[in-house]
Amino acid sequence: MRPSMMKIFDNLRDQNILDLEHAKRDNKKVVGMYCAYSPQELALAAGAIPVSLCGTKNEPVAAAEKVLPRNLCPLIKSSFGFAITDTCPYFRFSDFLVADTTCDGKKKMFEILSSIKPMHVLHLPQGTDRPGALGWWLEEIRVLKDKLEENLGATIDEDGLRAAIKLTNRERQVMRKLHEMNRLDPAPLSGVDLLTATWLRSFSVDKAEGIELVEQLIEEIQEIAEKGLSPFRPGTPRILLTGCPVGSGSEKVLKLVEECGGSVVCLENCSGIKTQVYLIDEDESKDPLEAIAERYLQIPCSCMSPNPGRLELISKLIDEYRVDGVVDLTWQACHTYNVEAELVRQLIKDKFGLPYIQLETDYSTSDVEQLKTRVAAFIEMMDRS
Ligand code: SF4
Ligand code: SF4
Repeated sequence: MRPSMMKIFDNLRDQNILDLEHAKRDNKKVVGMYCAYSPQELALAAGAIPVSLCGTKNEPVAAAEKVLPRNLCPLIKSSFGFAITDTCPYFRFSDFLVADTTCDGKKKMFEILSSIKPMHVLHLPQGTDRPGALGWWLEEIRVLKDKLEENLGATIDEDGLRAAIKLTNRERQVMRKLHEMNRLDPAPLSGVDLLTATWLRSFSVDKAEGIELVEQLIEEIQEIAEKGLSPFRPGTPRILLTGCPVGSGSEKVLKLVEECGGSVVCLENCSGIKTQVYLIDEDESKDPLEAIAERYLQIPCSCMSPNPGRLELISKLIDEYRVDGVVDLTWQACHTYNVEAELVRQLIKDKFGLPYIQLETDYSTSDVEQLKTRVAAFIEMMDRS
């Protein structure tokens, strides 16, 4: 059974675009952000609306390939293609762009993109295990604050930052609670619906309203679960999806897993719980910029070297969500997730003895039949019915 509230989430993209149009008419500034490492609290404290610009659709890839190398990850090509074809309303509405030096493809793409709109690229440390990493990152965040103030004509003060931290922490907590509903067996929410509900939060013009909507969805899911209802039959294999980010339009693997008889109970990637488990310290005696720096540096992305946090998070999630198998999604030409897949495979096999599959693909539908055969065989191996 699908929660009736999901119909609202299905239409939220169009509603968010309309809201953004109205906000722009009221002279609100919009800050487009490309990565989970970009601290949205600074944009909020500047009185602006932060939106995610991560490309998740295949349509603009062809245009991007006229400028960028073809053997680049589809997420980079999609993000770039949207910008140069002016087909993403969120990009069009953005007054300022914030990006991060994560993988090589992305950071070099940003150099080209910066000629289209004003942009600031945060320089991430390569890892978190060096004594200077946090200090470096804090300085980068201070520079971002100056850039935002200069480009948006705004002042970012301590009160604004503390209010923004409270709001984003509330949003993370409610999103995490939504995710955690799927610890139930069978899961009350499909992985596709979980993604739809989580994904659209990155585009809410009014975060407080978005939080309220998710709270209503959670209430409905609780009622559904109390009646013992679920979109899945008992015994459906419970899958953890890890790897590259997935969004509306690039959910092909997630859909395939569920079409082939699995239930994606947890999304470990940046579109899922990875961005919800780490909260910002709200201690009033602490410099809010420092608290922001500490939180964002905890995100365990494969661009970090080493990246033990991802393996720790996956281990925790496997237990909490009583996972039967792990699907590791790698976008083609994403070297960091592709290489790190070996460490994930070793963890899943050696520590948990669970089935693991790595799927490498792009945003096109050309390999769907091939993927289907592999995914179906993988799911069949775990069927508990
Ligand atoms: S996977 Fe890494 S590079 Fe991509 S959005 Fe997440 S943190 Fe940023
Ligand atoms: S999926 Fe991989 S290659 Fe693509 S932008 Fe993210 S880290 Fe870079």
